[in-house]
Amino acid sequence: MTEKIKISISGVRGIIGEGLDGRMTTSLASAFGQSLNGKPVVVGRDARPTGPQMRLAVLAGLAFSGNDVIDIGLVPTPTVGLMVKHLGAGGGIQISASHNPVEWNALKFFNDKGFFLNEEDFNRFMEFYKGGDFGKATWDRLGQLETRDDAIDIHIDRVLKFVDIEAIRARRLKVVVDGCRSVGGLILPRLLEQLGCEVIRLDCAADGQFTRPLEPTPAHLGGLCEKVKETGADVGFAADPDADRLAMVSEKGLPLGEDFSLALTADYIAGKTGSDIVTNLSTTMSLDDIAKKHGVKIYRTKVGEAHVVQGILEHGAKIGGEGNGGVIVPEVHPGRDAAIGTAVLCELMATRGKGKTISEIAAEIPLYHIVKDKVPAGEYDAGGIEKALSEKFGPPTVDRTEGLKMVWEDSWVHLRPSNTEPIIRIIAEARQLDKANQICRLTRDLLCGQ
Ligand code: MG
Repeated sequence: MTEKIKISISGVRGIIGEGLDGRMTTSLASAFGQSLNGKPVVVGRDARPTGPQMRLAVLAGLAFSGNDVIDIGLVPTPTVGLMVKHLGAGGGIQISASHNPVEWNALKFFNDKGFFLNEEDFNRFMEFYKGGDFGKATWDRLGQLETRDDAIDIHIDRVLKFVDIEAIRARRLKVVVDGCRSVGGLILPRLLEQLGCEVIRLDCAADGQFTRPLEPTPAHLGGLCEKVKETGADVGFAADPDADRLAMVSEKGLPLGEDFSLALTADYIAGKTGSDIVTNLSTTMSLDDIAKKHGVKIYRTKVGEAHVVQGILEHGAKIGGEGNGGVIVPEVHPGRDAAIGTAVLCELMATRGKGKTISEIAAEIPLYHIVKDKVPAGEYDAGGIEKALSEKFGPPTVDRTEGLKMVWEDSWVHLRPSNTEPIIRIIAEARQLDKANQICRLTRDLLCGQ
């Protein structure tokens, strides 16, 4: 049976009417509001068709817990975090199931610093929600509603302050944006036009009438590839529905793979500022090569945006993120943000990469092949797996921060229990595809006890 609700630190996600309904949504919002001691809450949403109804449930829940609401409308997920901080609010809620299929929606919760709740805070909030003691503000204490339509402009201004606007304007890039019929279509074209780009819009109406599967993975970007070729654009950018993930298509109309969004921005920012790089354990090894090239350190955290952000703040890094297209520039906002990724990549094309195509720039990044697999969750013998793989591929460096990761000179494998599904994920990477497949297959066989 398909799971119809998922509760994790990345929020509460469910199929509307089956796992997540109006009553639960109102209760969650109400409990969250009450846990903030009546402080104002910023609320945004992506363009999913169930967003307007979810919004009503969230606003009702917050108002009856006595929280004033600042409704910022259709916005990317990072915009909510950024506005919480900007307005000094008590917290934020984004209504978005990110890349989940259309029948899903979700609530994501931000603390007063504009970060996603960490594990401890989220668990505390869930306990409070289960206690049921919320939503009872008296008639003279109900929350008031304020709506604002300037959040995306404030976000764009913040991004523009970070990049070399004049250099990018002088480059006069021709760009296609695939907005995924959601909020990426509201922020990316406006940002790029302010950077002097000629923008061709594909699926930029934020009406939730999705035309492609929602993750910006290479297999889903056929429309963007065609449009880039047809228009002779310099590059294509694609977002997921809540515009925290970014993918690129080259001037040849070929998808570069989501890993390149972080690899290219990290290469550029580490080279320019000498910053260390923070990423998760399952992100490409090309970041290790990039760190070595610039003489900076690379720190790897558990998988999940909250963990990476924590690592970035701990190490004072200026760049970090996740291989799924999640670029994080903490100076703009400490969370994954397609807008900052887009602007930094334009600056790279306009400055260090001037005179080169995006394909030529991408070819400077060492290429690895990642393969993924999964097996049903269960106990496994980490020591036995380590021994068997050592015998086959030589002694690895072992990291047990999350699950088991073994790293060789030009390859690695990471196996870890999933946070959201009853499975163990296997991710392997190597310079040669054959070797990545071989490592992945052997790990899978060992996990299955063969
Ligand atoms: Mg997303």
